[in-house]
Amino acid sequence: MRHTIGMPYLPLFLDSEGRNALMVGGGAVATRKAELLLRAGVLLTVVAPDIHADLVGDDRACCHHRRFELGDLDGADLVFAATDDAALNREIAAHCRARKILCNAATDSQGGDFILPSVIDRDPIQVAISTSGASPLLARLIRGRLETLLPESYGRLAALLERFRGAVKRTVPAASRRRFWQEVLEGPVADLVHGGRDDEAETVLTRLLEAPDQLDTNGEVFIVGAGPGDPDLLTVRALRLLQQADVVVWDRLVSPPIRALIPRNAEAIYAGKRRSEHHIPQPDLNLLLVELAQSGKRVCRLKGGDPFVFGRGGEEIETLVEHGVRFQVVPGVTAASGCAAYAGIPLTHRDHAQSVSFHTGNLKAGDLVLNWQHMIDPHQTLVFYMGTVSLPVIQRELVAHGRSAETPAALVQQGTTPHQRVAVGTLSSLHQLATDAGFEPPGLIIVGDVVKLYATLRWYRTGADAVDATTGWFDTP
Ligand code: SAH
Repeated sequence: MRHTIGMPYLPLFLDSEGRNALMVGGGAVATRKAELLLRAGVLLTVVAPDIHADLVGDDRACCHHRRFELGDLDGADLVFAATDDAALNREIAAHCRARKILCNAATDSQGGDFILPSVIDRDPIQVAISTSGASPLLARLIRGRLETLLPESYGRLAALLERFRGAVKRTVPAASRRRFWQEVLEGPVADLVHGGRDDEAETVLTRLLEAPDQLDTNGEVFIVGAGPGDPDLLTVRALRLLQQADVVVWDRLVSPPIRALIPRNAEAIYAGKRRSEHHIPQPDLNLLLVELAQSGKRVCRLKGGDPFVFGRGGEEIETLVEHGVRFQVVPGVTAASGCAAYAGIPLTHRDHAQSVSFHTGNLKAGDLVLNWQHMIDPHQTLVFYMGTVSLPVIQRELVAHGRSAETPAALVQQGTTPHQRVAVGTLSSLHQLATDAGFEPPGLIIVGDVVKLYATLRWYRTGADAVDATTGWFDTP
């Protein structure tokens, strides 16, 4: 690694079509680099006594099975010294320098002029990543992270925009061109491409172009599931739409690390929803979304878990439909999936449960009216949302309707977060156990034999203790 003040390397994108490159070496490193060069249209000559079968089999590469000779440098625009002999790589680099040919040596300490970055290829978009030689492995890890943010649809989107560039320039006046492209990139055209519906995207774009002055200035609402807490459980789409939002309306279940991802220039509105505190009443909230969208805003309605699982997403959308507001729904990891996974309690299991059902434990006037008869099959896992307060009722009714008082049951609090706590007991003991340990809502209850698996499958450790009154009770499977 060199120590230059400022940038150690100048990133450039070389028009490489038809240039001559010489690859000295035929092993794994040489082959990996050669693949990149061939993809970029380079005329490649490979010189090495042993050359990897992939390269020999590629008729775009001209392979010479022999040792390197000085004359090989004649006519080369770029040279890659990629042998496993460090002294030879250095020697080749020195010859290249004397002849002013740019040379890439297998490692920087071997005297080369340039390095090959880690590349994300979303033709025509190229992203090149370098750590200036500090750690090629880190460069690859960073590439992996960026790749998830750049689905391959970005390549198709860029290609579509390129095809329309000339037409837009001719039709859309310069003053409104930026607004036009913004509408295309952040509106339905891009969404259609990301959804694999390129033909429809092209149709919409063509229509926009025919009537650019009728640009839809109405906003849009994204109903986005934020998952149960861990920000890593956000979907790629949720993150993208969150970043595009002008206004974010979030509720209490959205965890602080996810709130931290709300763009700084976006307005953040807290919609409340504690058990007893309805910060903005639901009908007002539904109308608020309509008003914000009608004023031209892109509104992200960020909800805990999945919007369609006890999330009132349906009610919000009904109002949007009534008012003709454009919207889309992004699913999220629902608390049942998140808590089950992080607690090590599979919701179904071939030996223990063949089905799972989700229920609300929300008390209406102090009562819980549920179809208890349908919950007594010992091979069915039950999940109760909003059930921490009604846990005594749930336990009582299940046992009264015939489910064994010894059925394993768990309460998961702040699941998937560093504050996750899990209480494990039975239908007769769980409430007392959780109360003694100071468990508070919101929490998720899981009932059924699968809870036994927690003893062996728990893997997610947090600073908070697990509460387990069943030591000695578990029949470890
Ligand atoms: N739409 C949400 C559920 C909203 S209802 C979803 O799909 O997850 C609110 C209930 O979800 C809470 O009372 C609690 O039972 C559950 N919940 C949400 N996040 C949770 C978490 N991180 N840990 C435990 N329970 C959670």
